[in-house]
Amino acid sequence: MKDIKKIGVVGAGQMGRGIAQVAAMSDYSVVMYDISAEGLEKGHGFIKKQLDRGVEKGKWDESFVSKTMANLEVSTSLDAVKDCDLVIEAATENKKIKFEIFKNLDEIVKDGAILATNTSSISITEIAAVTKRAADVAGMHFMNPVPVMKLVEGIRGLETSDETFDTVQAVSEKMGKTFVRAEDVPGFAVNRILMPMINEAVYALYEGVASVEDIDVAMKLGTNQPMGPLTLADFIGLDTCLAIMEVLHDGLGDTKYRPCPLLKKYVLAGRLGRKVGRGFYDYNN
Ligand code: NAD
Repeated sequence: MKDIKKIGVVGAGQMGRGIAQVAAMSDYSVVMYDISAEGLEKGHGFIKKQLDRGVEKGKWDESFVSKTMANLEVSTSLDAVKDCDLVIEAATENKKIKFEIFKNLDEIVKDGAILATNTSSISITEIAAVTKRAADVAGMHFMNPVPVMKLVEGIRGLETSDETFDTVQAVSEKMGKTFVRAEDVPGFAVNRILMPMINEAVYALYEGVASVEDIDVAMKLGTNQPMGPLTLADFIGLDTCLAIMEVLHDGLGDTKYRPCPLLKKYVLAGRLGRKVGRGFYDYNN
């Protein structure tokens, strides 16, 4: 197993900032990078706010906040992650962006360091193939919001070594997460099961089976889920849901994965969910 002391996080959006926060809370030395100075500043401020909120709620004290913040460095230069033992990429879900990041990371990050990605749907094997260290590349799929959600889905690319995979499992567990192992197939395990359920809920709405509210109440109370599938879709982002369904449909080639036309229509209309104030529900009032 590799010894991990310093973790780099690429991307300071909703996932990157969460991963950086939990890593810093778990006593890793962390450097968070984002291409956008504004995004980085926002991510850093968000982490501080979350930690302060924990003090108000009595979860920890001021000294824990200072210690955690002292573990966290931020930078707008990718060079800042070059001496990290593990880099976790959590930038925008786009192949071109991720391939470019991994090519650059492979050039600058020290030999032997692990490069992990938090992608929801892009093939780990394909990402690893743009580097010269495919054995040191793995998927670490955290859930949103990272500080709250207990799961990390580990994904093994074709060339991922046992040492790399065992190390990302150990790091996930040190971060307080439960680690499950999944193969590198479209959607991995979580989204392979979750997204068709959400897509089916949209079909039920599209076909007039039940209203938005009734679909959610039915699934919440009828199947003991903490939130209904349409509420969850709004939370994830309807554009992200559609992108994942397209990966399942293209990658597995089965018509049962075809995205619901109503999901496409909402995305075309810009009703992307909570992040824009409107999806299946209206969050503006
Ligand atoms: P986000 O839009 O909140 O954040 C993306 C960040 O990446 C932005 O701050 C952006 O400035 C930055 N970025 C873009 N290009 C970059 C580059 N070249 N170098 C460095 N930073 C760059 O997105 P998110 O929801 O945090 O998603 C990030 C990743 O996590 C995606 O791969 C997504 O699929 C995955 N993911 C998301 C969720 C979710 O529920 N949102 C859950 C699990 C995994």
